Amino acid sequence: MPDLLVSFIAAQHIDGLYAFLRGVLELDQMPPPTLPEITFAGRSNVGKSSLINALTGRKTLARTSDTPGRTQEINFFDLGGRLVLTDLPGYGFAKAPKGKVDAWTDFIRLYLKGRPSLRRALVLIDARHGLKDSDHDIMTMMDKSAVNYQIVLTKADKVKPGPLAALKEQISAELAKHVAAHPEILATSSFDGTGIAEVRAALSELARPE
Ligand code: GDP
Repeated sequence: MPDLLVSFIAAQHIDGLYAFLRGVLELDQMPPPTLPEITFAGRSNVGKSSLINALTGRKTLARTSDTPGRTQEINFFDLGGRLVLTDLPGYGFAKAPKGKVDAWTDFIRLYLKGRPSLRRALVLIDARHGLKDSDHDIMTMMDKSAVNYQIVLTKADKVKPGPLAALKEQISAELAKHVAAHPEILATSSFDGTGIAEVRAALSELARPE
């Protein structure tokens, strides 16, 4: 069994719900890059699965394995034939062995560089913790791969408006140093629905027109 896999999940919009079909592929068998693609990246436990579920209206999508010792996957979600969402394995393990971190980095770099259909990466940041070193690392990797990326704060329900505004300002100042960063920061909560409509609107601007 290879260590790193890609799975493909086709979603069909039926009566307001998405039906998902899942197939696991190897990295060189990614689905053809025919639709605009948005990727979701973030530290493990940032709330990525919860956000993807909130955006797609599903409770229990297949999720990527974050554990470095386990098979890591990129999940592809085809949303109604207009847009593909991809879910990258989480990063930022303090105790991950170097070999595993290197494998993760190579895997993600290959994906970021080799996907002509990739329109944007959403880099998820826990609103309670702000930017960590591993977030800076992936932002730098995206700058180098010329992948446009946007910061999405998660768990905004856990932070009061004042500190949330201060965090946005601090991150904005940081983004000015990154060439591929989109300037607008979105704050979300999968628990109370904050910002979900804004993320959906950003996605639908990038989707293939109906
Ligand atoms: P992932 O590892 O990035 O996919 O993160 P998960 O979606 O599994 O969430 C990690 C933890 O954060 C879980 O305990 C979730 O219940 C919690 N969580 C996720 N989203 C939110 C949110 O919007 N608000 C709060 N308060 N907790 C959240």
